[in-house]
Amino acid sequence: MPLPDVIVHIMACIENCMRFDLITIFPEFFNGPLDHGIVRRTSEAGLIHVHVQNLREFTKGRHRTVDDRPFGGGEGMVLKPEPLFEAVESLLGRSVGDAAKQNEQDPGTAIVLMSAAGRLFDQETARRYSQLQRIILICGRYEGVDERVAEHLANEEVSIGDFVLSGGELPAMLVMDAVTRLLPGALGNEASSQNESFSELQAVTAKPDKSWNTTRSESGKEVRMLLDFPHYTRPAEYRGWKVPEILISGNHAEVAKWRKQKAVEKTRRNRPDLFS
Ligand code: SAH
Repeated sequence: MPLPDVIVHIMACIENCMRFDLITIFPEFFNGPLDHGIVRRTSEAGLIHVHVQNLREFTKGRHRTVDDRPFGGGEGMVLKPEPLFEAVESLLGRSVGDAAKQNEQDPGTAIVLMSAAGRLFDQETARRYSQLQRIILICGRYEGVDERVAEHLANEEVSIGDFVLSGGELPAMLVMDAVTRLLPGALGNEASSQNESFSELQAVTAKPDKSWNTTRSESGKEVRMLLDFPHYTRPAEYRGWKVPEILISGNHAEVAKWRKQKAVEKTRRNRPDLFS
């Protein structure tokens, strides 16, 4: 007799590994993205376990209907609450309750609804998620999802940017990627996620620098986050464009100083909003 799904998934996830559940009406959508790069490697190494849950398994009736027309009229279709509640409950192995009694949430698990109307996802959110044991990502479609999912099932409603996409699958994948690469052991070089765009360390280490002070005294503003500095690789000259001299000087202190300065410049140019 086959083991219940829940047991199979728990067995597949070694101790301390992080579990992602993606709830979607298009499970095949994830075949490509899950098969590449860090997400694939971390999964093969047992650092993460990804389960793609077809929402239609939780529908009743011949037509396996997941959506219905909106109350109050208007365009488009809305994802019904029942399959989503039942899918999450099946994954959790317990009931989330009802209007009379809503059950406690597990602090190690985030149930995240992907939504253009959600809070903006950023590196800080990715860092917070990377401390969790489990993330359930709910992918909307059509006009969106019955609001009771946002209110009583999900504990977070997250947007990946101020634009509207046709489904939550790409946003969910993006959240998963950003979180996975922060897990200890996910990147080849452990230090590499500490010194990149939006890392606080990047901003802190840049602070004592002269260029930083100049930047600050000119504008009277402080930067909260810095973007990454520019990277170069071989050839040292390409079509007449040369790599900055300092990078091939071998002077590590000067290189570090140059990188901080360039990171500040780039942040000012591309993301002035990061200066508060
Ligand atoms: N009517 C909605 C958009 C629905 S788009 C509105 O105006 O806000 C269909 C689904 O795509 C959403 O339910 C959500 O899951 C996903 N989606 C679209 N844009 C998104 C974004 N910027 N961030 C996260 N999810 C998004």
